[in-house]
Amino acid sequence: MAARAVAEGNDLEVLELAIRTAVTRLGSSLLEGLLAADGGYRGPRADCGSGHQAVFTGYRAKNIDTVVGPVRLRRAWYHCAACGHGLAPRDDELGTGHASMSPGLARMTARAAATVPFARAAGLLAELAGIEVTVKRVERSAEATGTAATAAIAAQAEAIGSRRVVPLPPPDPVPDMLYIAVDGTGVPVVAREVEGRKGKTETGKARTREVKLACLFTQTTLNDDGYPVRDTASSTYLETFEPAERFGQLVDAEARRRGAGHIRQLVFLGDGAAWIWNLADQLFPAATQIVDLYHAREHLHDLANLAARLLAGHRDDWLAARLDELDNGNVEAILAGGRDLDFLGSLAGERDKALAYFTNNAHRMRYQHFRDLGMFIGSGVVEAGCKSIIGQRLKLSGMRWTIHGATSIATLRCQDASGNWDQIWQRPRSQTQLTDHALQAS
Ligand SMILES: [Zn+2]
Repeated sequence: MAARAVAEGNDLEVLELAIRTAVTRLGSSLLEGLLAADGGYRGPRADCGSGHQAVFTGYRAKNIDTVVGPVRLRRAWYHCAACGHGLAPRDDELGTGHASMSPGLARMTARAAATVPFARAAGLLAELAGIEVTVKRVERSAEATGTAATAAIAAQAEAIGSRRVVPLPPPDPVPDMLYIAVDGTGVPVVAREVEGRKGKTETGKARTREVKLACLFTQTTLNDDGYPVRDTASSTYLETFEPAERFGQLVDAEARRRGAGHIRQLVFLGDGAAWIWNLADQLFPAATQIVDLYHAREHLHDLANLAARLLAGHRDDWLAARLDELDNGNVEAILAGGRDLDFLGSLAGERDKALAYFTNNAHRMRYQHFRDLGMFIGSGVVEAGCKSIIGQRLKLSGMRWTIHGATSIATLRCQDASGNWDQIWQRPRSQTQLTDHALQAS
């Protein structure tokens, strides 16, 4: 056929696709043959997984989609009378479990679906790999992979938190500072995920749920101009929709994993939200706390806007002076400048509220001092992370997530951004089974 295509003067593209189809067909029959070499018979009885002995009942066929197309697998089937269900030990050995996708295809699918929306992911698989998978299966498989990864991370955090696992110290030279930058952002969710929750919309109904995101990175050197430089490839990300306390456990475990116990200086960066500082106080009482400079600047802009009429033509000068004071970490001067604003009535109350932000966070805004210590004073890293990890995949127009679905995809994206993509696929067998159960349940 290929020869005929050339003879008829068809273009290279037709030839390529025809050959790919032929190679894929050859591949799937090869794979089917290899799989047939072991029928999965493990004796008359096999462990059912719940402590019973399941009995061999014969062979059953199953279709699996793989990166080289669909294959038919015939394997020994066992039935457990106590549990009332059957199993094929061969499925777990192959890493397919109850799923109808091979691990290789599940990995490809997760990569595509972590990167682009499910429908586009299905389109990419078809166009790039010649594999037809429905959008629903792409979603289910990727979410199952993400759910298993989330469970594996939680299990690791639990093991570190309970000291059953002690992370290795960081390799020499040990970084000088470990930063923990924390932020939150709203993800649009389906109605049932916000039932009974108050929101910021006009109807008072919430449309989003907050995902908490942390970026941990290290810093050892300053550049020629004296600015801190983030250590190359040192950022790791984690995320959860769960309450602050749970988030704290994950952050704590990740900080330990990153060598918090061996690194001289810990720095906690946040936007000024109270829950962030409560967390920092509890988990890392020795850490230096810094309010992200850009968030603090925004608060000054807000105050200047509030006072725009009062300041009339002087607004911009007034703001510039306050921004300078902020840069120098001179919060007392900002407070004095704010109190000088001669508001009447309710505006005075708003001014006091705005100033309270600076009063409460004054010790976290000593920017000149932090600069002298060679520290980062902006949490740009985690905000960029929020935008790229969460925003560019979970907040696209028209999207409405379940918390389960959003968590699974956000986890995949965090693992990828952390350079831990391969670790998703290096789980022990017991965690592979989580994938299967998640898939079964969805
Ligand atoms: Zn059983």
